[in-house]
Amino acid sequence: MSPTRFPIQRRRTVPVRIGPVTVGGQSPIVIQSMTNTDTADIASTVQQVAELARAGSELVRITVNHESAARAVPAIREALDAQGCSVPLVGDFHFNGHRLLTDYPECAEALAKYRINPGNVGRGEKKDSQFATMVEIACRYDRPVRIGVNWGSLDPDLIVRMMDENARSPEPRDADQVMREAMVESAISSAERAEQVGLPRDRIILSCKMSGVQDLIAVYRMLADRGDYALHLGLTEAGMGSKGIVASTAALSVLLQEGIGDTIRISLTPAPGEARTREVVVAQEILQTMGMRSFAPMVTACPGCGRTTSDTFQHLAQDIQAYLREQMPDWRTRFPGVETMQVAVMGCVVNGPGESKHANIGISLPGNDERPSAPVYVDGEKVATLKGDGIAEQFKRMVDEYIETHYRAQ
Ligand code: SF4
Repeated sequence: MSPTRFPIQRRRTVPVRIGPVTVGGQSPIVIQSMTNTDTADIASTVQQVAELARAGSELVRITVNHESAARAVPAIREALDAQGCSVPLVGDFHFNGHRLLTDYPECAEALAKYRINPGNVGRGEKKDSQFATMVEIACRYDRPVRIGVNWGSLDPDLIVRMMDENARSPEPRDADQVMREAMVESAISSAERAEQVGLPRDRIILSCKMSGVQDLIAVYRMLADRGDYALHLGLTEAGMGSKGIVASTAALSVLLQEGIGDTIRISLTPAPGEARTREVVVAQEILQTMGMRSFAPMVTACPGCGRTTSDTFQHLAQDIQAYLREQMPDWRTRFPGVETMQVAVMGCVVNGPGESKHANIGISLPGNDERPSAPVYVDGEKVATLKGDGIAEQFKRMVDEYIETHYRAQ
């Protein structure tokens, strides 16, 4: 992991070890994702977990929703290990987790962490014992647990009790406020119960996911004030396309800037046929654009305007960004530090040379009424002027040369 580049003061939380990954304390913020394959389909799940890990997901969650899924988990772990993919697997349990973890000990052992939703562990008298069973298994295998509250499945007994208490109070708060408090109460009281059962605090992570940006910010501020548990951040059901990205970014940026959050997941709905890895890229770009971690060289590009003569610079910016990201799994070891590199691709001389000088390497393509030439700057100095039809290819070669000469491992 690359060091934090921007010194945001993180809230102090208890670090939680999940295999080779640490969430919390002052560790870099961890990126995680979740598969959308049927876990019982071993081949598809292995393939998607490997793709997510290759894209940069440091933990991958899979649903364990029935017996065939629980039976598949050890084989999924084995197949990933056989191909050199050691990403920790997190099991997502609802309703029957106590039974699946009890009946399939190989599944319990193959998972690096369990997610328990306190709203979905059972009703009435069964709730406490089923929750305790899952926590006892976590203790037996020394596995951390995420107590993941979701407002779509908030413990109905708890919300009814808190709403009743509120209605009887002399100064009742509005229902939204009670709902937010119930989310936090569910997470904190479940964590306290887990500790009473014997799970140490350094094996507990909390989350309180909501789909409204302002709700999420308010709830996590309360959660951070209520204890030092490591926190998993994510806007649930963020949605599709730009809406999902914008909503997640808006919510998470505010909290991360306040030092709240130890691991993040972006819950995007992929468009049909769209790669599941998009959620990992978005998570990386949030952390990188906030200056918290670096994952891949970033391309600065202008939006283009009436001065832009063609879409050459848009294609070049897109090509270069895609190329740099695709190479990263290989470059991470061959060119350490390359993930911090800045590349500028600009549409004309108005801001082109200035932006290029701020980048490690930058090009300013010719705009309207400009000579058909493209100045290239390296580390703030103009080093070449590219001309002709092959400007894009020439510039890509210069980017490769820069990486070879500046980042090659010694
Ligand atoms: S750099 Fe040039 S082409 Fe790009 S937005 Fe600015 S003025 Fe327009």
